[in-house]
This record gives sequence, C-alpha cells and structure tokens, in this order.
Amino acid sequence: MSVALVVALTAGTSAAVSWARTRGPFRGSFARGALLTALLAAAALGAAWLTAAATGALPGGSRLDAFADVVASPYFLFPLAGEMAVLSLLSFRSLASEWRTLLLLPPGIVVLSAVAVGWPAETTVATLAASLLIVVQFTYLMLFMYRNKQLYVPVATYMVRLAGAGTVVGLGLLVWVVWHSPVVVGVAAVAEMLVFLSVAVAPPALVDEERFSWLMRPFWAFQMLCAIFLAELFLGAALDISIYGPVYMAQFPWTIVVGVPLTTAVGNAVWDGLWFVAGTAVSAWFLILMGLEMAALVVLKIRETHEKEQKWRLGLMVAVYAVAVVYIPSFWTKTPLVSNSVVASLPVIGWGMGIRTGGPFAPTVLGAIILMYASVGVLTVLFGRRALCSVMCGAALMYQSATISEMRTFNRTSRIGRLFLGSNFSTAYAVASGVALVSLFGTSFLPYLHLLPGVQLSASSYMAATLPFELYFGALWFVMFVSIPYVGNYNCVTTGFCHWGSFAQLFSKATFFKLRVKDKTICQSCTTVECAKACPIGLIDMPMHFRTKGEFRSAKCCGVGDCVPACPYGNMYLSDVRHWLRGKFSDPLHPPASARLPMVAPRRAATATSPASASGAGSSAGPSLSH
Ligand code: SF4
Ligand code: SF4
Ligand code: SF4
Repeated sequence: MSVALVVALTAGTSAAVSWARTRGPFRGSFARGALLTALLAAAALGAAWLTAAATGALPGGSRLDAFADVVASPYFLFPLAGEMAVLSLLSFRSLASEWRTLLLLPPGIVVLSAVAVGWPAETTVATLAASLLIVVQFTYLMLFMYRNKQLYVPVATYMVRLAGAGTVVGLGLLVWVVWHSPVVVGVAAVAEMLVFLSVAVAPPALVDEERFSWLMRPFWAFQMLCAIFLAELFLGAALDISIYGPVYMAQFPWTIVVGVPLTTAVGNAVWDGLWFVAGTAVSAWFLILMGLEMAALVVLKIRETHEKEQKWRLGLMVAVYAVAVVYIPSFWTKTPLVSNSVVASLPVIGWGMGIRTGGPFAPTVLGAIILMYASVGVLTVLFGRRALCSVMCGAALMYQSATISEMRTFNRTSRIGRLFLGSNFSTAYAVASGVALVSLFGTSFLPYLHLLPGVQLSASSYMAATLPFELYFGALWFVMFVSIPYVGNYNCVTTGFCHWGSFAQLFSKATFFKLRVKDKTICQSCTTVECAKACPIGLIDMPMHFRTKGEFRSAKCCGVGDCVPACPYGNMYLSDVRHWLRGKFSDPLHPPASARLPMVAPRRAATATSPASASGAGSSAGPSLSH
C-alpha cells in the first residue's frame, strides 16, 4: 500500500513538474526553477517519511536527527531517483541530444547509491555499478570537451557541477564503506538532484548565451580535471576497501589521530592522508576506472588516425596498460603460485604503473633490475623515448587520450609551461630532474642496504626510503596531471621529474630515432609550422631544425608522432632503427618507402587544414547544444 502511494506521489509530482516547467508564468526564471525543485524535494521527503513511518523505521531522537537519518536513507534516495528518472524521460524529447545523455545518468547513480547504503551485502556490486556509471559520465564529458572547444557558459557551468557532484558521490561511497555513515551519500544524492534539476526543470536557453574556448580558461579545465580525478580516487578507494578490506587498509602505516595533542594529531592525519592518496592512486581499482575512461578516449583517437603505424602504437599502449599496469601487478601477482615466489618482487611485475621502479632495490632482484634498465636503454637506442614514454609507461595512456592531447595549448599559454618550452634544457628543468634523480636513486639504495647482512634500518627509515617513490608517482604525478592547465601537458617529460624519463634521455645522443623531412626547402617556406603546434611536449624549435638540417632529434621528444599528420604538406616522417636498416640494406635503385612518399606542393599550405588546426582553440567541430 505504502509502496503504491510512494510511487504515485513521486511519479505524479514529477509529471506535474514536467508539465509545469514549460507552461505558465516565470518560464525559465530562477524563481520558477527553485519552486519546482523545492516541490520535488518535498515530495521525495514526504514519500520517505511516509515509508519510514509505515515500516516502523522512523529513527528516534530529535526531529533534526530523524530528518538527517531519513535524508541519508534509501527511503529518500529511491523516490528521489524515481523523480529524476520520470522527469528525464518526460523531458527527453524536448532537449538537445547531448543534454539527454547527461540527464539519463544521474538517476541511475542515485539509485545505485541507495542500493549501496540500503543493502550492505550488495555494497560492492552497487559501488562498482555506480563507479562505472560515473566513469561513463566523465568519459562523455571529456568527449564533449574534445568535440566542442567552444562552450556555452551555462553548459560549461553544468559540466563542472556535474563532475563535482560525481566527486561528492565518490566521497559518500568511500565514507560509507569505511565508517558505514550514509550522511555523505545523502548529501551527494541531493547535490546530484540539484545539478540535474538545474537543467531538467529549467533548461537554459543557449541561443543568446556567451561562448568561450575552454582551452583559454585554465581554471575551468583545472576544475574538471580535479573533480574527475578526485571522484575516481574516492571510488577506486571505496572499491579497493570493499573488495580487499583489511588487507588493503593494512598496507598503510596508520598513525594515531585521536587522544593525542592537536599538533601531533594534525601531523599524523596529514601523514596518513599522504600515504592513503599515494597508495590509492596506484591501486587496482583506481587504475581500472581511470584506465577505462582514458582508453575510451584513446580508442577515439585510434579511429580518427589514418596512419597504420600510429594505430598499432596506440593499440599497443592500451594493451600494455591493461596487462602491465593493471592485470599483472594487481591480479596476477596476487595468485598463490606467484605471490610466494621471487617473480612477485621483480621490477615491472608487482609495482604499480608498470615500468616505473616504485620500490626498493633488493639483492634477489638486482639482476632483474639491471636487466630492465638495460632493456629500456636498448629500446631507447633503437626506437627513442617512444618505446618508454609512448607505449610502455601507464602515463602515456592518460596524456595521449583525445581530450588531454588537446591540452597541449597550455604548454604555450601557462606561465610555468612556457619555462619548459623547446628542446633546450632550462634551469628549471635541470633543478627538477636533478632533485628527482638524486632522491629516487638515493632512497632506492637505502632499502637495498637494509637487506644486506649486518645492516639494519629502522622501520621508519625503511618507510621514509620508499616514501619518495610513493609521493612522486602515487601523489605528485597526479597533482601534476590535474595541474596541466597551469604546468602544461606531458609535464613528467617537460619538467623532467620522472627518473625513468631522465634515464631514457641518457641515450638520446645514441638513438636511431629522429624526425625527418623529405624536403627541407618546403619547411623553409612554411609559415604554418603546424608540426610544432601539434607537439604535446612543446618542442617549438622543431621547424628551425628542419629548415637547417632537414631533421630533428631531441632528448625530450617521446615519439608521440602527433606532429607527422599535422604537417599540411605530408613532409614529415619518424625514423628509427627500421628505417636505418632499410636504408642500409635496400637496393639503391629501389629506395625505402619513406623516401618514395609523394610530395605535396607547398601552396597547399594556404588552404590545408591539419588535424591540429582543425581541433585547436576556437574551433567548434562537434555537436552543439544550441538547438
Ligand atoms: S617521463 Fe616517466 S612518467 Fe612520463 S611518460 Fe615517460 S616514463 Fe612515463
Ligand atoms: S609543418 Fe611541415 S613543412 Fe611546415 S615546418 Fe613543419 S614539417 Fe616543415
Ligand atoms: S616532436 Fe613530434 S614525435 Fe616528438 S614529442 Fe613532439 S609531436 Fe611527438
């Protein structure tokens, strides 16, 4: 009886609001939106109160406590989700197609939050489903950014709020999993509802709205990256704790924050928080969630790329991420057969982010570590940094996803990004890479000493020794990632704070890898320099080298290859050991393919539209929300 009443109440209110939103006075006004929102909230609250009272589940205590408990309970969350679903279905046809996708997902997220807090036995499944739905939403937002460099102000505002609501949902589920408090989930559901209703109840009329290029608004892009990253961090932690429980939590060196002097408590809380963020940022489920989103955006790039080799490289990069960054360290090494063997402690295997050496050196694996460094050296000589920084490293997947690639603009527009432009090594670069190299190799050596006979480090020195790895690649890497709008894209390469990248650079003078042009006279008359504009590292001096030497080799170039299709004359190609071998052994009468590619006349420059310029700031290639 009460279920039928609740369904009738929520469906009836939503239908009435849906009808009223396009009729009557104050259409589109803030007051009208607020009134209809309040009506929906009151109906959901009434339905919750009714159900709780009918089932005898109305909490005791003061009215205020009871109110808080009801808001954070499934009794409220389900009717709320029901209202949102009915409203989005009724509004469906009258909204632009992009709004539709964004309106269909929030009700599902609220339903799953309700399941997570309502049925503890289903928490893991509901959290996983909610996480996947949020990732779908984020992927769509990123895709939208990629396709629409110009955004209407209300749309941009809605996107930030939606991403922010996803962050609060993530935090709510984490708090629920750790402390079994549903309060933040309740707050998150209300936040989702308010953001959702801001469009569903009063769809902004976009025709006369101002538009802006988000690539020229670093703060807007920063907010999006922060919200997305934090949401995935919270959701990843909630899933890891939910699935692995005490084992996951036991890896962190928890310190006491209750019953100690305030200064100690604050210090301990910061210390605990740092470890938790650093550990979670390389944990299984965070990497899976982040990887799914970024891989979808890389697949889009694969579809848009015409070059076969580039397609293969991007595909290989996704596969390496799935196997070396996620599957092997997080799942394969946990199998009983592997976890007890020396294989589990081999570098690459068992340490997050695949290739990075996030862990102490140990005598048992020293040979393997040397072999790994040697392999990276050999691969760099043969194929340049492309092997490491564009295929083997998990970071490559994130930087080369369609939307993040577009953020190369920030290398030129941000104050810090400009410090690292070009192939020369600035003082800032020398300082950053020097600090990283010394601290990481130095601290790697300490745990190695610890394992030698007769040398015993204390537990805290041992932890302090591994801390820089955790901080650099578990925390700092992601801080740098969300700071792209202020530091520039691919900033692990441009600033040199990654020791692996710096190690690979040592071989840059000996590598076969270089960028070549077929005819340097074309570069001499080229005014577009699209190759340099497309480079995510900001190697702006590339055209100068083409004009004088017909080739370019830089220790910073990581072989992404975006510059090649950007050249409007098809004048560029990447060259590595394969080209060298072909040149060495080919018949002079039948030169290698790269030398036989058809040349395009320079006058194409005036009309040519390269991928870079087509997708640059100010363009609006994708669907618009204006209809
Ligand atoms: S510099 Fe380091 S983190 Fe960045 S792509 Fe290269 S190996 Fe990965
Ligand atoms: S865009 Fe093409 S022609 Fe122009 S400088 Fe670059 S490689 Fe040369
Ligand atoms: S110069 Fe070309 S290949 Fe090198 S990093 Fe820049 S876009 Fe990639």
